Amino acid sequence: MSTHDASPQHQTTATPGGANWHFDTMQTHAGASPAAGHGAHVTPIVASAGFTFDNVDHAASIFSMDTLDSFAYARAGNPTNAVVEQRLAALEGGAGAVLTASGQAATVLALLSIVRSGDHVVASSQIYGGTVGLLNDRFAELGISVSYVDEQNDGDAWRRAARPETRAFIAESISNPLCTVLDTRLVADVAHEIGVPLIVDNTLATPYLSRPLEHGADIVVHSTTKFLAGHGAVIGGAVIDGATFDFGREPEKWPALHTPSSPGEAGLWERFSPLRLAYLLRVRALLRDYGPSASPFNAFLLLLGIETLSLRMRQHVANAREVVAFLSEHPLVAAVHYAELPDSAWRAAAATYLPNGAGSVFSFELHGGIEAGKRFIAALKLFSHIANIGDVRSLAIQPASTTHSPLTESERASVGIPAGLIRLSIGIEDARDLLADLSAALDAAHTDTIARDTRKEAHA
Ligand SMILES: *Cc1c(COP(=O)(O)O)cnc(C)c1O
Repeated sequence: MSTHDASPQHQTTATPGGANWHFDTMQTHAGASPAAGHGAHVTPIVASAGFTFDNVDHAASIFSMDTLDSFAYARAGNPTNAVVEQRLAALEGGAGAVLTASGQAATVLALLSIVRSGDHVVASSQIYGGTVGLLNDRFAELGISVSYVDEQNDGDAWRRAARPETRAFIAESISNPLCTVLDTRLVADVAHEIGVPLIVDNTLATPYLSRPLEHGADIVVHSTTKFLAGHGAVIGGAVIDGATFDFGREPEKWPALHTPSSPGEAGLWERFSPLRLAYLLRVRALLRDYGPSASPFNAFLLLLGIETLSLRMRQHVANAREVVAFLSEHPLVAAVHYAELPDSAWRAAAATYLPNGAGSVFSFELHGGIEAGKRFIAALKLFSHIANIGDVRSLAIQPASTTHSPLTESERASVGIPAGLIRLSIGIEDARDLLADLSAALDAAHTDTIARDTRKEAHA
């Protein structure tokens, strides 16, 4: 008997039709069924905390997880979110998805579903600062340890970092601010050799630019707050499972998937791996128990965003390429970190994994250090000064004075964040206006004496 107020229900697989559709069709149709119920053409916001049962047997079958396609209580799932889950699963090529209240919650649930006290995680040191904080601070409090791999595309570095108690590898397909690109296949192969799943945070790439599950990753997480929702309006996250990792091979490593919830019952793996739902039902159980559920209002806005994902990403990438070309030629710019550039260490990985572009979040270094960077930010008129990425509007920030300000200059240098670094997230405006704004701000950044000296150096 369940002691919970709602079973982890409603976990259906991606729409069958979606498998045959092309990306642009999936992004506008997968998961939605306009004919269902009252015939609303747009997926409705279902604002209901609870859902009525047909009868007592129906209720019982939901709670015992014999019925998976009904809803009970919106903390564990609701019809609006279910459409978005199916659409994301279709776009990533996964078996299914679970929507969460934030990207951070998605990472928490993806990991805590299989990692417990005494376990260990290996992460790329390029990952998002919020994930680093989560692993270093919160997971340490739970007795979960972490090791970082500095050279994320060196398989031996991952091998060396792994321990008998390692339970997951985690990395990002594209990371910021330095626009590094993961060799997904290589790291996935090492993960599988070690016997753990590879979790890829695909936030910056989106499934339009990269589908990590096609390259050996087992689980994808997203901050849907960024390019997927696309308009900077709502926080959200998602866990998408490829259902490729064999949690049955070394069952002693995965007690969460093999321990029955009541004596005599089968564990999640035994019961649901034939449906490719074992891990996802575990994630949904954590969603129900920890409670970081996505509001259907936010899910609705996310769905609207997803419907134009490919159109926006094409414009984001085209604009980013124009800005990169402009900055690369500019005498006041010391370096540009974009994975498509000939001198980028990530160029080969970008060519393999990101044929449609290396995204629109990258950074560049200004001559004149932190002070020139401050003047540059202050002089921007069109770019917004904001700690976000993946908006239709172009954004800029100086990591040394904001996101990375707790670090000393030498600590920042060790993670590749020089004082003069500026991170840009290029939006979908007209590139000519973006270049004009950047050009004027660069000039303004270099109007004082220090900068004039630097300019001489730059020209020398
Ligand atoms: C923003 C972000 C997150 C966290 O997502 P939230 O929606 O802010 O909780 C995780 N990973 C990456 C790569 C991000 O950019």
